Amino acid sequence: ETYTDTDQDQILQDNLEHTLFSWSKQAGLNPINAERAEGVYLWDRDGKRYLDFSSQLMNVNIGHGDQRVTEAVAAQMRELSYVYPGMITKARGDLGKKLADITAPNLTKAFFTLGGAEAIENAIKLARVYTGRHKIVTLYQSFHGASYGAISAGGDPRKFAVDSQAMPGVVHVENPYFYRCPWYSSTPEECAERAAAAMERIIQYENPGSVAAIILEGESGTSGCIKYPPTYWQRVRTICDTYGILLVADEVMSGFGRTGKWFGSDHHGVKVDLMCMAKGITAGYLPLGAVMVDEAIAKSFDDKPLPLGLTYSAHPVSCAAAVAVLSIYEEENLLENTVTLGHHLDARMCDLMAEHPSIGDWRNTGLFGCIELVKNRATKEPMAPWNAAPHQMEIMNKVAAKIKELGMYTFVRWNYIFVAPPLSITKDELDEGLDMISQALRIADEYVTQ
Ligand code: PLP
Repeated sequence: ETYTDTDQDQILQDNLEHTLFSWSKQAGLNPINAERAEGVYLWDRDGKRYLDFSSQLMNVNIGHGDQRVTEAVAAQMRELSYVYPGMITKARGDLGKKLADITAPNLTKAFFTLGGAEAIENAIKLARVYTGRHKIVTLYQSFHGASYGAISAGGDPRKFAVDSQAMPGVVHVENPYFYRCPWYSSTPEECAERAAAAMERIIQYENPGSVAAIILEGESGTSGCIKYPPTYWQRVRTICDTYGILLVADEVMSGFGRTGKWFGSDHHGVKVDLMCMAKGITAGYLPLGAVMVDEAIAKSFDDKPLPLGLTYSAHPVSCAAAVAVLSIYEEENLLENTVTLGHHLDARMCDLMAEHPSIGDWRNTGLFGCIELVKNRATKEPMAPWNAAPHQMEIMNKVAAKIKELGMYTFVRWNYIFVAPPLSITKDELDEGLDMISQALRIADEYVTQ
């Protein structure tokens, strides 16, 4: 379809005048006017091409425009678009079975939601009902969604705007953030041990008998890819076993191949009781989320009603999209590609670290990576601080503007640049993106003080 300049202006005007944009001041916005997308690229209405280096919001894992998904969705809609969640459909059963196959054997049943935040809400509800306890322990540097319960559960400063009305009962603890370890640890293992010990002390002070669940992102995402040091998950599992607390993995961002395994927590060999998922489950083609539930927890509702429900739970069209997307992960060997390219990415980033003094730390697992920019490697002074105010974002904004100008869309937040392209990316496309980031980093390098 071709559009005249007048059409273009109208699209822009209708969007800006009649719709609200997430997390932003509404005046002065200059969003990309997206027209079409294919593979790892998307085009705006002026024909400018962007390499999508964050899979939009780390969800378009199979790449854009895969017509196999379109066909599956259209076929489902032609046959049956919607029935209420009390009915059985083939797509729902196929998806439930597939999710039970790719998660640990104890996770046997799925409760379907529309997205990540709702998965978290329902996991919190289940954990509270099942344990008869109310407190939820999470990490300060975490994000679990924007609905009331989910934003209260996360520690991300986006919750400050609604802090006075937060869901009660959440206890936050510090992350095992080795690069900036709050306990000045000299090894990742030491940081893990001290972080877990601190968590356990806080749980003791809080009354262990009141704690329903500990929620951890399967692997940290929006807070800056703060990788869990080895042994941390095992220690948290032990704390859960000691006090009868449920362990909930939030795999909304880290799931579905992003780290080279189906789920981020798979890297730690630890059993979880509930697993929240969304995003990559449909790779963004349609909205869907799920909570995978441990067999014993699911069975406890054999003889009493499950206190959960949503009009669009197990929406047949979303389920059909997910079934198609999950088979694409396998047909295209996307997990294997992620492992291979994750190593290549890490090697290239080590070269870039030698070239760019503004890179303080680089962390990735598979194609889930963050570049952490600093003004000074010795002091680790960040290029922009946690919860940076607009005036503290000047340098990072220049870097982000350069990235956009060069033809890349990616997620830049505080002093982090995210590298999380579709898992279908090729080595050449990945290199093309890293070259763009390298060019943009020259701007940051100029602000480094030795
Ligand atoms: N959990 C994690 C780890 C996330 O990264 C996000 C979103 O970025 C959510 C939950 C919320 O998901 P949604 O935006 O689909 O509600």
